[in-house]
Amino acid sequence: MATTVPYRLVSRQYKRDDSIVQVGDVYVGGKRVVFMAGPCTIEDKKTLMGTAAAVKRAGARVLRGGAFKTRTSPYSFQGLGEEALKLLAEAGKQFGMPTVTEVTDAGDIEMVARYADMLQIGSRNMQNTALLKAVGRSKHPVLLKRGFACTINEWLLAAEYILTEGNDQVVLCERGIRTFENSTRFSLDILSIPIVKSLSHLPVIVDPSHAAGQRSIVTAASRAAMAAGADGILIEVSTNPDAAIVDGQQTLTIGQFTDLVCQSRLVAEAIGKTL
Ligand code: PEP
Ligand code: MN
Repeated sequence: MATTVPYRLVSRQYKRDDSIVQVGDVYVGGKRVVFMAGPCTIEDKKTLMGTAAAVKRAGARVLRGGAFKTRTSPYSFQGLGEEALKLLAEAGKQFGMPTVTEVTDAGDIEMVARYADMLQIGSRNMQNTALLKAVGRSKHPVLLKRGFACTINEWLLAAEYILTEGNDQVVLCERGIRTFENSTRFSLDILSIPIVKSLSHLPVIVDPSHAAGQRSIVTAASRAAMAAGADGILIEVSTNPDAAIVDGQQTLTIGQFTDLVCQSRLVAEAIGKTL
């Protein structure tokens, strides 16, 4: 079928009904909203296990945690790699949550997919077409972050790369874009949610943590994302955010995350969704 937009497989013209993506035993898309939560980066076992237990209790259904990081500086901590993947798998199993973690190199996909339930493509790699094609050949669900300097059209074309290789298990994630505004880390493009939902059948979630860059405004951003129709929220949370090597300033405490889930749930319910 011909479409009047530059992408085909991801478009609403090609598939009218909302797609639902299965991550372990969790479904993303449709009437329910999903909270994915955990540390920015897996730094030690004790923090990860404590955080996993607490976010599960607060209502998260998918556990996040970075093992391979795309840091701006080569001198910054790059993540614990496979050691972190082992810890993530252990925590996911122990607390009954499927897991999501970033893959930065096509050569690592097989290994990451052995440990994690969902492959995250980070904002800095959204236009890495070799990586997009490689995750497209895998059967694993993919979380595709929006490049922070990319348009919605470019984001949907990046998703198209994955679908053309045979993998239609793609969830999009708005995480903020770079603008002239510098009082937040990035500008959360709230209106990309209804726009993408009108253009594409793929589920869209929002990461307010990286857009906000500071703990105090993450909950407001999460409420706004729910009101705009997001299918879920990806949040950085830790039992000890002040001790985190990476992104501690935007990482929520357990108490803050618990409030965020309660408040976001009320907003979701107001527009006919459930937790
Ligand atoms: C992350 O989620 O850990 C991350 C690095 O996000 P982004 O790629 O959106 O910066
Ligand atoms: Mn982070």
